[in-house]
Amino acid sequence: MTHASPITPTIPLDTDGVFHGFLKLPYSRDDSAWGAVMIPITVIKNGTGPTALLTGGNHGDEYEGPVSLFKLASNLAATEISGRIIILPAMNYPAFKNASRTSPIDKGNLNRSFPGRANGTVTEKIADYVLRYLVPEADFVLDMHSGGKTLDFVPFAAVHVLPDKKQEAACVAAMRAFGAPYSMMMLELDSVGMFDTVVEEAGKTFVTTELGGGGSTGAQRVAITDRGVRNFLIHAGIVSGEIEHPDQAVMLDMPDDTCFVASENTGLFEPCVDLGEMVKAGDIIARVYDTERTGIPATVYTAPRGGILSCRHYPGLIKTGDCLAVIADVVAA
Ligand SMILES: [Zn+2]
Repeated sequence: MTHASPITPTIPLDTDGVFHGFLKLPYSRDDSAWGAVMIPITVIKNGTGPTALLTGGNHGDEYEGPVSLFKLASNLAATEISGRIIILPAMNYPAFKNASRTSPIDKGNLNRSFPGRANGTVTEKIADYVLRYLVPEADFVLDMHSGGKTLDFVPFAAVHVLPDKKQEAACVAAMRAFGAPYSMMMLELDSVGMFDTVVEEAGKTFVTTELGGGGSTGAQRVAITDRGVRNFLIHAGIVSGEIEHPDQAVMLDMPDDTCFVASENTGLFEPCVDLGEMVKAGDIIARVYDTERTGIPATVYTAPRGGILSCRHYPGLIKTGDCLAVIADVVAA
């Protein structure tokens, strides 16, 4: 049987105006017997019109989305919009507060926890609430990721190949409107449990992003994100104004799993190509050094295919199985 969610919003979701509050998730524990996880939420509504659901902090160590959405929640007036914007700047709030990808409470990776469970772990309860109570309200959903502490990306918005080509075309149009320097037809190695998958299955116009990484952010990346969010809302018909196109708009594609290069040893990571550089098949992209002693030749990693280095391992040390690089096809400028 399906349980009702234990999560309750402290603000109305369907009243004109700007409301800042919380999704209150009861969480009884040693330091707070009748305590709750309080997930920040802002709802801005003005009359009738489409609804956009904007989310950041699906993973807790990815910052472009949260910076842009905390800012938007503080700055946008109801009179500037037609319709409704639901803003969750730090969706997996325990993970966000802990600056980690997954939740410190239950180790839950929110983006592998959908559809979630109303009577499950804290992370599963968040997934269940967002999917059953917020996603059905939305016409447009934008979920902003970046590489977190372990990856770094060229800034891109992305959509997936979908069985419904009309829906895919709507997603592609929204991705192009976002206007990141790169737009990606993204391949997922592990799509089960992702927010993307359930939102797409619900028939929504969905755009995701990878806007940077490394466990922090920067001025340029935030500017790209701010512009993208605004463009997305203009495209959705919620905010009026002109879409601001980027100087550069490159379409990328990840046609198959040869795009991913995994490390097959553990050691010190030497990147030999920077993000955004073009490589040919066979070009050296990285070396990994044994750190136990000197005098051991490095393991050399070469590009398995030509393309653009769109993602790289971020920390200075690397382990067997870590994603070392992603090489994507440049489809068209
Ligand atoms: Zn993420």
